[in-house]
Amino acid sequence: MTEKIKIVVVGAGVSGLTTALLLSQNSDYKITVIAKHQPGDLDIEYASPWAGANYIPVALAGSHEEVYERNTWDWLYDLARYTPESGVHLVGTFEGKDRPGCHEYFPPRAKDSEDSPDLRQWRDEIEKPNPWFENVVPNWRQLSESECPAGYPRGVSFTSICLNPQIYLPFLQSRCIKAGVKFRRLDISHITQAAQYFLHNQRDTMAPNIKNDTADLIVNCTGLSSHKLGGVKDEKLYPVRGQIVLIQEEVDYMISCADEDQDTAAEGEFCYAMSRGAGGGSILGGTYQIGNWDGKVNDSTTERILRRAVKCCPALIAGSQKTGIEDWKKLTVVRAGVGLRPARKDGVRIESELITGKAWKGWVVHNYGHGGYGYQSSWGCARQVAKLVRDCVSRAL
Ligand SMILES: Cc1cc2nc3c(=O)[nH]c(=O)nc-3n(C[C@H](O)[C@H](O)[C@H](O)COP(=O)(O)OP(=O)(O)OC[C@H]3O[C@@H](n4cnc5c(N)ncnc54)[C@H](O)[C@@H]3O)c2cc1C
Repeated sequence: MTEKIKIVVVGAGVSGLTTALLLSQNSDYKITVIAKHQPGDLDIEYASPWAGANYIPVALAGSHEEVYERNTWDWLYDLARYTPESGVHLVGTFEGKDRPGCHEYFPPRAKDSEDSPDLRQWRDEIEKPNPWFENVVPNWRQLSESECPAGYPRGVSFTSICLNPQIYLPFLQSRCIKAGVKFRRLDISHITQAAQYFLHNQRDTMAPNIKNDTADLIVNCTGLSSHKLGGVKDEKLYPVRGQIVLIQEEVDYMISCADEDQDTAAEGEFCYAMSRGAGGGSILGGTYQIGNWDGKVNDSTTERILRRAVKCCPALIAGSQKTGIEDWKKLTVVRAGVGLRPARKDGVRIESELITGKAWKGWVVHNYGHGGYGYQSSWGCARQVAKLVRDCVSRAL
């Protein structure tokens, strides 16, 4: 019997779990995932649980990111149609009647886009008459001014997906475990330390002979933490702070637009709303604050998010029995939270590197720096990682 290739994936966010799942489909590999945070945790160093999360293309045409987002659509679309236990659901129907789909409205003066090159790039791409994704997402079309709310001269509509990270992350982890991937909670200070923690057996009573072994290869999916992780220390990484509010009420379509009241909107704030699958309520956003590491919820931001959501989606409070209070106070808040998008100058880093540590030298394949598009590019990125892993394995033999 030939020896299997022993791989340790560091990180159990959407990037690490998706990568481990895809790699586990290759019977030549055995995989261990080590991570400080795992599905179920809520922490400022763990971006994945805070995401909305939806699929709204942000990649520039012709970029690597375009390939990653394009190659992720079918995976998410199939889950939405055939695997409801994944927590992924379609927003919009083929008929487009009862649920009008995902709507993006463009303001006359893209205030926030002026502040941020990332947002400007995203707006520029999505506003094109024929963007690269017009034939990727179903039912893409530009909206006329009469179809947009007052104050928005342009907009687009398409069928999209929304996924509920509270269900989707455990779903990915379960699929990994079923495929034989081992998990271990661990905080490392240098990427090469991960190599010591390849596990042959899970730590449970049915498998008493636990044996740590040395990995042949490491995959680094540590998100924003790669800026301080020994052996990586990537200075191109920076946080983009996102404050969100989870409410009980459900919106009947996904919406994203700038604040209607643009003169009083705070820097880096805009409005989005989406219902999470399987009765998860709705996520309201939010902020896009570049370089801001603050993990604390700001109460005045929460109030502005709620005010804007009611303005953009009045249907949210249509059935409310509460009278005599301001409209935004009629919403039932479950919690407000903050996540840090792991953004990177030059975009996501998917590349292999030969790294030498104190006790191990070998190939590390990086997969981090996904900014605000980690879910919608996850499968495409994992496919690129799988290709690099194959290259590294053949180089090492
Ligand atoms: C408010 C908000 C809204 C968003 N909306 C969307 C959206 O609608 N669509 C979309 O596609 N994306 C969205 N994103 C972006 C998306 O959430 C991120 O790109 C994605 O979650 C990054 O995942 P990751 O696995 O790379 O990193 P993370 O989720 O941060 O995971 C990092 C993992 O590495 C582990 N780790 C780190 N350092 C160490 C260490 N030293 N030792 C051991 N383990 C370590 C952590 O414990 C964790 O398990 C949003 C993000 C935010 C904050």
